[in-house]
Amino acid sequence: MKVANKIQNVRSSVKANRGGSKTIGLVPTMGALHIGHISLIQAARKQSDFIVVSIFVNPTQFGPNEDFDNYPRPIDDDLKICEQNGVDLVFAPTAAEMYPDENITWVTVEKLTDSLCGRSRPTHFQAVTTVCSKLFNIIQPDLAFFGQKDAQQVIVIKQMVADLNMSLKIITCPTVREPDGLAVSSRNKYLNDEERKAAPLLYKSLLKAEQLVKSGRKNTADIIAQMKSILSTSDLLQPDYIEIVDTRTLGHIESINGPVLIAVAVKLPSTRLIDNIIVDA
Ligand code: AMP
Repeated sequence: MKVANKIQNVRSSVKANRGGSKTIGLVPTMGALHIGHISLIQAARKQSDFIVVSIFVNPTQFGPNEDFDNYPRPIDDDLKICEQNGVDLVFAPTAAEMYPDENITWVTVEKLTDSLCGRSRPTHFQAVTTVCSKLFNIIQPDLAFFGQKDAQQVIVIKQMVADLNMSLKIITCPTVREPDGLAVSSRNKYLNDEERKAAPLLYKSLLKAEQLVKSGRKNTADIIAQMKSILSTSDLLQPDYIEIVDTRTLGHIESINGPVLIAVAVKLPSTRLIDNIIVDA
């Protein structure tokens, strides 16, 4: 496995391994790799001949009071995980390598970024789409693998790829969960014991919503109220949003008549957690 910190070295390594009908697969991450990331790498292995994992804690996508400084950066463990899982190349640039000068060019996807996480993180998605554009330009993958865990992110990136005619395909991989249902996340490390016990309520509220939809309940306000009452069984969870939206436009839905994205975000004392499911009526 090769490790490159410089853009120039990544470009030449990918170029040397492109050729013929070889498929280049990219898994973009911020490191602190866990079984969720590993599931993306495994999906990439099935569908690609040369697998690149990027590890970059992108400073621009963190808001002023967010956890950029504290974000875990266990690079040695991450490299071991990549090696053990058959990654061919790790791209782990510094912020100075990615942004040598002040960044004054941004890629903005409108509308889809106004709702859900975009409301409480107003500059987040343009930073994500910009850094993904940079990674796509540097690596030029045929496929890039993203987790359903960050549902809005993958919808926004698919839109960007379509609108800008980027020549790669975005593959969405299912959310990997702990045995008690909590979606695996690098930020779960922040949870203390009490918070960790409360955190599976997110998934529990999503499962309740799914059960209601499957039993024919259509009114989203009723379903959201029931989800809220599950989350309120712990006063450690402060809902940021609980929403039922269109899976394509992310627009609010009042009455369910097809597939919907049910998404929830909560603030805990130590961190913010998100989760979602797609349910078809
Ligand atoms: P991050 O390192 O948090 O930026 O995540 C990198 C990629 O891993 C993103 O596409 C995430 O959606 C994906 N990911 C994170 N957690 C999970 C999970 N529990 N299951 C599946 N994919 C995940």
